[in-house]
Amino acid sequence: MGLFGNKNQIDNDQAPREPTVKKSDSEWQAQLTPEQFRVLRKQGTERPGTGKYDKFKEEGIYRCAGCDAPLYKSTTKFDSGCAHLESLFRCVAIPGAVGRNIDRSMFMERIEIVCNNCGGHLGHVFKGEGLGTPTDERHCVNSVSLSFAKEDAENASK
Ligand SMILES: [Zn+2]
Repeated sequence: MGLFGNKNQIDNDQAPREPTVKKSDSEWQAQLTPEQFRVLRKQGTERPGTGKYDKFKEEGIYRCAGCDAPLYKSTTKFDSGCAHLESLFRCVAIPGAVGRNIDRSMFMERIEIVCNNCGGHLGHVFKGEGLGTPTDERHCVNSVSLSFAKEDAENASK
């Protein structure tokens, strides 16, 4: 076992689902802002400190900015106290809404998270940091991948 062990394994039930929303790059480009397209469709990461939902405290639902699928509840958001990921949104996903891939870019192994409804790139998951969350995971999601709606959190799980 190396320094990071093999904690970054993906269980079958966590693998991304076949997206129901399928569009070509040009269709996505027509719908999304250039920054949304870069992050959601090209696995980009927004610049640190620019996330519009960083330190955002309102209660409601975060939906995928690409397809409007409900992904996160704000009531599960917590502050990781992780300064270098300041721009990114942290919380626990709505069950089944988010799929996972092993991402071996950037000279490291990370878990990429994607919207299960359209396959859009959301960010990365970090495990085993001892943050005291129920799953011991931290979801770092680009704010640009999300749109917030103030609504009853119960409505989102259907
Ligand atoms: Zn989506």
